[in-house]
Amino acid sequence: MNSRAMSQPFKITSHIRLRDFNPDFHAGLDKEQTREDTTRLCLRIGELQQLLYANQTHSLILVFQGMDTSGKDGAGKRVLQFVTPAGVETDNFKVPSHEDLAHDFLWRIHKATPRYGNIGVFNRSHYEDVLVVRVLKLQPKEVWSARYEQINAFEKILTENNTILLKFFLHISKEEQAKRLKARIADPTKNWKLEMNDLKMRAYWRDYEAAYEDAINNCSPPDAPWHIVPADHKWYRDYVIAETMVKALEKLKMKWPKAKEDLSKIKIK
Ligand code: AMP
Ligand code: MG
Repeated sequence: MNSRAMSQPFKITSHIRLRDFNPDFHAGLDKEQTREDTTRLCLRIGELQQLLYANQTHSLILVFQGMDTSGKDGAGKRVLQFVTPAGVETDNFKVPSHEDLAHDFLWRIHKATPRYGNIGVFNRSHYEDVLVVRVLKLQPKEVWSARYEQINAFEKILTENNTILLKFFLHISKEEQAKRLKARIADPTKNWKLEMNDLKMRAYWRDYEAAYEDAINNCSPPDAPWHIVPADHKWYRDYVIAETMVKALEKLKMKWPKAKEDLSKIKIK
């Protein structure tokens, strides 16, 4: 990690190159201690979501992007472990359906945004439309390259309307992905996760890196920056995400709403 990235390790504020970020980075922290710290942060996330729900004025979206096996599901499971399921709306964006393709690429995304009071979890997102679409040449360059600006405009609508957008790029190394894919073959409880497509996508690693770099550089306005999360160590990945969430929610300075009635007049018989 270069010195600029060290002083501002995760939140992207200027042009970056992915190769300057070390997926193995863990700030020299102790694994067990950090796990305990993460659990405390997760408890706090549970409380903050209750406040979010009580106030009904804001929503939060976690966008998880990253190569296959980078932990897009695992991270959400960990950081939301103390949040009531009723307060969470999740979506896994797969290959678009016929219905999706009969609309603009943001239609299915906007429809999936959480109501105020809730936390939305996006496993993949509108960014697939400048990632897989670009790498596999599913659309010509004129189409996908115009999308960065369209994405910025869309996200501006969200953030200016009280949606906090936290975009996490879960950054793993190709070596770590190899380990995780091998585990999916060796461990019978993980066999079901293995998809031949993931093995095929490995061959496009550099193309995906270039596509991620452009997405991160073109779509990191101050209100919706990308966070590059070193993700070779799951415990450090989850700590960074939990801490970022707590900071973002605490910034709202939410209070418990006042009762709608004059409580002194209410008698429970
Ligand atoms: P998974 O997340 O492993 O279940 O895989 C979902 C697949 O859907 C991945 O291969 C994605 O690249 C693909 N996908 C998601 N969004 C799009 C999109 N907009 N266009 C094409 N493929 C997509
Ligand atoms: Mg997969």
